[in-house]
Amino acid sequence: MKRYKAVFFDWDGTAVVNRNAPVDEAVAAMAPLLEKGVRLLIVSGTTYKNLAGGTLHERFTVPQLQNLYLGLGRGSYNYGFNAEGRRVEVADPGVTPQTVLRIHDAAYRIHRILWEKYGYPTDIIFDRPNYCKIDIMNSNSRSENLFLSGNEVELARQSLAEHGLAGGITDLLALARGVGQELGLPLKVTCDAKYLEVGVLNKSDNVDALLSQVLFPQGVAAEECAFWGDEFLNLADGLDGSDSFMRTALSAPGDFFDVGTVPGVRPPWVKHVGGSIRTFLDFLKAQGEL
Ligand SMILES: [Mg+2]
Repeated sequence: MKRYKAVFFDWDGTAVVNRNAPVDEAVAAMAPLLEKGVRLLIVSGTTYKNLAGGTLHERFTVPQLQNLYLGLGRGSYNYGFNAEGRRVEVADPGVTPQTVLRIHDAAYRIHRILWEKYGYPTDIIFDRPNYCKIDIMNSNSRSENLFLSGNEVELARQSLAEHGLAGGITDLLALARGVGQELGLPLKVTCDAKYLEVGVLNKSDNVDALLSQVLFPQGVAAEECAFWGDEFLNLADGLDGSDSFMRTALSAPGDFFDVGTVPGVRPPWVKHVGGSIRTFLDFLKAQGEL
């Protein structure tokens, strides 16, 4: 097995079953690697309070924390830990409040077009950092499992088609990108069959910031990095899952692994290993023993 100097990974559905599940097993697999100087970089759309209820730093020693980094909020936050073990920002994407308001305008415009033109109901979550989540499946609650599962892709396709969006998610993406152009905003649009997300950043921005601001200066090359997630699945024409955004021009020389269990087409550059969190935690344990 190849020995990696750094492991980037998604949190929900990759390291833990969901954000309310116990983190003990993930922590137990991570600690020996951090101890040995392997950099672990959590790249998640969520914010710090949703990683072990905001207590993740309490699970590691201060020396271990020196090798832990967090790329959170869909590109918005990049954290490391200082010599006292306090969480500190290591790269600021610099999105202005004016841009945030324009993202909110774009989300409302998308909601409005869907409602007026297609009679399609959506709900908007505005309180995300530098992006909005537009719920396109109001009637379908994910309860605690905030990741893609089962037949959601098909349900979304049917629901959109019933309202005249025959191309399903592809149509939705085109509509959202059109609104971005109309408003002169470089919108980065993603969709996971439950939420359409619109913002100016995504996981690519986290990965590029952490590579260029943290790992490259430390002498770690992209070839020495592994990238793990559970959502690389192709959801529509031209749209791969949220974890596929971890692959950028900078990170492409790394190795990519998908633990997702939903059948379907994945990008050719990712190795589909399946098995959900079990596979990923076993990988961490095996790395810790190398
Ligand atoms: Mg996930």
